[in-house]
Amino acid sequence: MSSIEAFAERLGSYLEPEQVNLVRRAYFYAEQAHDGQTRRSGEPYVTHPLAVADILADMHMDHQSLMAAMLHDVIEDTGIPKDALVSQFGETVAELVDGVSKLTQMTFETKAEAQAENFQKMALAMARDIRVILVKLADRLHNMRTLGALSGEKRRRIAKETLEIYAPIANRLGMHSLSTEFEDLGFKAMYPMRSQLIARAVRNARGNRKELLNRILETLQNRLREEGLPGRVVGREKHLYGIYQKMRGKRKSFNEIMDVYAFRIIVDKPDTCYRVLGAVHSLYKPFPGRFKDYIAIPKSNGYQSLHTTLFGLHGVPIEIQIRTEEMEELANNGIAAHWVYKSKDEIINGNHARTRQWLKGVLELQERAGNSLEFIENVKIDLFPDEVYIFTPKGRIMELPKGATPVDFAYAVHTDVGNSCIACRVNRRLAPLSEPLQSGQTVEIITAPGARPNPAWLSFVITGKARSNIRHFLKHQRHSESISLGERLLDKVLASFDTSLEDIPEPRIRQVLEDCKMEHLEDLLSDIGLGNRMAYVVARRLLASDAPGGSTGSPRTDAEKPSDQSVRELPLAIRGTEGLVVSFARCCNPIPGDPIVGYLSSGKGMVIHQETCNNLADRGHADEKILHLTWDKDVTGEFTIELRVELEHQRGIIAQLATGVTMADASIDKISVDERDGRTSVVQLVIRVRDRLHLSQLIKRIRALNGVLRITRLKN
Ligand code: MN
Repeated sequence: MSSIEAFAERLGSYLEPEQVNLVRRAYFYAEQAHDGQTRRSGEPYVTHPLAVADILADMHMDHQSLMAAMLHDVIEDTGIPKDALVSQFGETVAELVDGVSKLTQMTFETKAEAQAENFQKMALAMARDIRVILVKLADRLHNMRTLGALSGEKRRRIAKETLEIYAPIANRLGMHSLSTEFEDLGFKAMYPMRSQLIARAVRNARGNRKELLNRILETLQNRLREEGLPGRVVGREKHLYGIYQKMRGKRKSFNEIMDVYAFRIIVDKPDTCYRVLGAVHSLYKPFPGRFKDYIAIPKSNGYQSLHTTLFGLHGVPIEIQIRTEEMEELANNGIAAHWVYKSKDEIINGNHARTRQWLKGVLELQERAGNSLEFIENVKIDLFPDEVYIFTPKGRIMELPKGATPVDFAYAVHTDVGNSCIACRVNRRLAPLSEPLQSGQTVEIITAPGARPNPAWLSFVITGKARSNIRHFLKHQRHSESISLGERLLDKVLASFDTSLEDIPEPRIRQVLEDCKMEHLEDLLSDIGLGNRMAYVVARRLLASDAPGGSTGSPRTDAEKPSDQSVRELPLAIRGTEGLVVSFARCCNPIPGDPIVGYLSSGKGMVIHQETCNNLADRGHADEKILHLTWDKDVTGEFTIELRVELEHQRGIIAQLATGVTMADASIDKISVDERDGRTSVVQLVIRVRDRLHLSQLIKRIRALNGVLRITRLKN
């Protein structure tokens, strides 16, 4: 551990003397403030801020960052107020220290917590001055390096947090050296045995690989020399945690991973990178599809390099990265490279400008959003790609799996919200309930009393909570609806015998239930509603003589087919709101006013067709399952029909057609246009109308349009 004087001398290599003095003053201030405090290792506390400043000095950070590093634990640990720092060291440094303290106070117990408000605060701190993050990262790095002094449980918690939060942040900021060190230290603390095992294997492999490695290295160097290309070639080793993740994630064996020989060629300028690429490609054959030009298209964190993989001797894969010194610096230190202290006359070249631009972009984003939402969205997607973070209108953050829809969100908020949701607003605009959500969006669910889950939701929800709740609700709903339909069907038949369910004596009902091996009347009614049992047959049994078991035989025997149909048919009235056990056939799309019949399909309830539907005629065998229906005079709702319109080709006619439909107060679900020849088109429309009267008004309006040749309502 260097003393402050040795440290100050080092700083002299890139800072002005008065700046070095300010850093030194900050050190002495911290030393006094932490007087009497020691680290877990027994050293005086001030050794820690000094080490943090040292890490930042390695990155050539400016003097204000170094001062903040010296003072970073003062507010938190010694109770000295921020104001005192303002008067001592100025607003900027005090702000930095305050920002770091705020970050320190957040302990990220879980990813979800880290994501929530904590992350937002962090982003806000970052927006004010990204150096807050850099100081915090250096602080964390020193703590990780000295983790050994802590107890097992605390060590693991810090290691986990480092792997989950800080390493990804460092990576996001392009600070590769830092993120790999975080990963290796975190790995070692979390999984000491595994880390040791891999370290040993790497050491052994190194010996075996040495000869071939040197041969390839020499060959590469010779080729560069022959071509007159300046550049240094270095061998690259994968870091332990990287190897571990590859073994786990890609299920590769240790040897498969180690069998790759990796090099980096560092040259003077971008132009040389491409010439070196040509030289190595002529030396060994490149792997097709593995070449990446991150110089032309840098990664989002500013990373630049050429990547290629070659077939070496005996087919050994050789991975090569080619970049300039500048890109190398940027690849290692990322955003910190931007803060490198520069004398006034130093020219800012392209790469630094790009980093600056990236940072500016982040800050602008922040400003434009007015809060940190958009910013979070951008950073977070990189940090935790499998989750999305959605805001409630009140600003609460909900964590959902990637691909979650507004319906998933509604159920995550509350089961009742999910069950009664009818629409949603995403960022204050109406949006489809099925659209996958993106991080940072604000979602508002619109509910309506009496609304209920739509079975179609099951095709797009992805959370277990939404799925099981929808299923549960539908099952329940279906049961009660089938009971009520069954009751109506049965009562209708009983009415034709001038009686009703209420008039049937209780013992008789119980007898029939017993015959059917059922306990409750509800089960029997539900069975009728679902189409498993015919109302007529059940009615006959209920009315049969009081002789016990008067009507024997299996309940499904249709021998008792209504032969004595002298009884009046009392049609069942359809209201349009029957729900899940009554549906409208897609083949003929009946609407109120059409003559209709109901077809009871076992287990599925009743499907309503037009009386003239061809599908029904084809099913002639099941006459007894067909019921005569009427429309209730109070029928409500919208019903789907399909129209086919032949048009003469002319400008704007489709738009006119669509307007015509809307003007007639009907809504279009789907429109498709088929051009037949140069002169005519055929338009198919799926439209929702109230009834036949509404439909005829609509047709009249369309027919009046210039260029409409023919309109047909489609059936089957
Ligand atoms: Mn600290």
